[in-house]
Amino acid sequence: MAKIAINIATGSLQQAEMIVGIDLGTTNSLVAIIHPETKQPIVLKEHNSSSLVPSVIHFDESGNVTVGDEAKAYLETEPQQTIFSSKRLMGKSYNDIKNNADFFTYKVIDDDTESLVKVQVGQQFYSPIDLSSHILTELKNRAEHILKTPVTKAVITVPAYFNDAQRQATRDAGKLAGLDVLRIINEPTAASLAYGFGVDTNDEKTIAVYDLGGGTFDVSILKIVNGIFEVLSTNGNTYLGGDDFDKAIMQFWMDELNITNEQLRNDKSLSQGLRLRAEDAKKYLSNHESFETTFLHYNLSVSRTQFETLIQPLIDATLHNCNNALNDAGVTKNEIDVIVMVGGSTRVPAVKNAVSNFFEKPVNDTVNPDEVVALGAAIQADILAGNNKDFLLLDITPLSLGLETMGGLMDVLIPRNSKIPTKAGRQYTTQKDGQGSMRISVFQGERDLVKDNRKLAEFNLTNIPGMPAGLPKVEVNFLINADGILMVTAKELRSGVQQTIEVKPQYGLSDSDVEKMLMDSITHAKEDIAVRALVEASTEGEQLLAATENFLSKHASSIQQDELMDTAQAMQALQLALTMADKNLIQSKIEALNEISRPYAERLMDEAVGAAMKGKTIE
Ligand code: AMP
Repeated sequence: MAKIAINIATGSLQQAEMIVGIDLGTTNSLVAIIHPETKQPIVLKEHNSSSLVPSVIHFDESGNVTVGDEAKAYLETEPQQTIFSSKRLMGKSYNDIKNNADFFTYKVIDDDTESLVKVQVGQQFYSPIDLSSHILTELKNRAEHILKTPVTKAVITVPAYFNDAQRQATRDAGKLAGLDVLRIINEPTAASLAYGFGVDTNDEKTIAVYDLGGGTFDVSILKIVNGIFEVLSTNGNTYLGGDDFDKAIMQFWMDELNITNEQLRNDKSLSQGLRLRAEDAKKYLSNHESFETTFLHYNLSVSRTQFETLIQPLIDATLHNCNNALNDAGVTKNEIDVIVMVGGSTRVPAVKNAVSNFFEKPVNDTVNPDEVVALGAAIQADILAGNNKDFLLLDITPLSLGLETMGGLMDVLIPRNSKIPTKAGRQYTTQKDGQGSMRISVFQGERDLVKDNRKLAEFNLTNIPGMPAGLPKVEVNFLINADGILMVTAKELRSGVQQTIEVKPQYGLSDSDVEKMLMDSITHAKEDIAVRALVEASTEGEQLLAATENFLSKHASSIQQDELMDTAQAMQALQLALTMADKNLIQSKIEALNEISRPYAERLMDEAVGAAMKGKTIE
């Protein structure tokens, strides 16, 4: 029997279980639902307060946790105990963030640079999953308080460029907060849903989602066909946003009033005061032509025109990202049907105009840009609850996924831009007689050698029964589920030995990392092809040497002396060629050795077949 609860606020009856949509943002987070009566998506907020919960966590001396506005108040006074932007740490190692280490005013552990980062507060260590779970717990509690009903199921949004590790980390954070995360969906997909794109299943649209928040920027190109969403490409800059607009105004005032960096460093209340007034000015200029105020003995003023000149280079940088996204998606500006604006900074008129001019069409900005992602997540939650069957969500893999094969080569199983959910499988075999285990190393990236790609996971398939080399059939299957999480299964088909892992990668990737990896694969394409050819030739050469040696040790007595001499010489020549790493030389020596061994190998084969035939009787 389904549980029914009474909504004390409205007096209405409602189902006990409600699936909420959560935008777990870098700066702010919020929850939305589909209103049970109006069927419209709404954000949840307490009376007279904002729907936005700052994604800030404060730990006091005794380990008590506060989240949101209350925690934000400690940012200046207790920076070591107040954690912001924890989303930037999701699925990352210290190596991944070290170039931006100054950004974090709290302690990010740097002694193990390879494994996932932790944050230290006092004597306690917190993973980014723990931190996000605190934010999610706060959102869950608020939602339960407002709805007067238990909230245990959620759809959570993540940036389209989040990799498997980051999606998994987000899911784990949900679990820790007591939420059953039914689906992780991409933020741009959610934003498009909030505008109702794709509702009509005959609707075919290519959408650009321009998301400029407080500290991050990304642009995604989506395609909707028959109610199916597909992310064609993503691009952006994880360290560009409205905060940089504030900084530009602050610098402008400092130049005008001869305030030095030194002064700011020594006077925290001066720097904080200027920063807050710069943000006020920016917001004010979204609706007015000029801003003026006094602070201490300073007269601070800035006009909209001056502000626009200041931020023009930043806006241009985002348009450059838009251009890259279009190129990656293989679509032209004219093919973009719709532009969706997301993030508080898209309220700046100069941003809207620049984006509209760039794509040569008006932008969609009628839905509150801070809420649009959460509202879309609520719509997706409603679809999952079975209330709206018009949609199906589909995403793509941003980078190829594959295995390491002989010689350190990357063997791609799921190519980049594959639609998910997806699966792929391939058979492999052993290289040595009696080999009892096989190492399965999973990589992500576009380069031909795994050393240039990212290792996601590694495990050993063990207990393979002893068999001659080449006989075991190890089938490796990759399965990416609808959340973009990868499961790798390896099974030896003859014996049934099997092992599965859910990939919990050690390293995270930012969108700029993804972009760099793609660029690298293009700039290094020529040398990669050459290296792959050399590795393949070397592997073949080494295998031939091993096989020949094996053959000789078994059949030396049946081979003539001069044949043995020639073979030894050819083997030596091949060995030498291998050490010289010359592909053409290796290939010619492989042919030479084959040429010499072929006559006696065939002769012995004939004899063996003859012997076998003799032993048979025909009835
Ligand atoms: P988000 O991360 O999407 O919440 O965006 C927050 C950013 O939007 C911050 O940099 C805010 O200063 C900025 N923002 C909020 N309201 C406005 C406004 N009216 N005009 C310009 N920027 C704004």
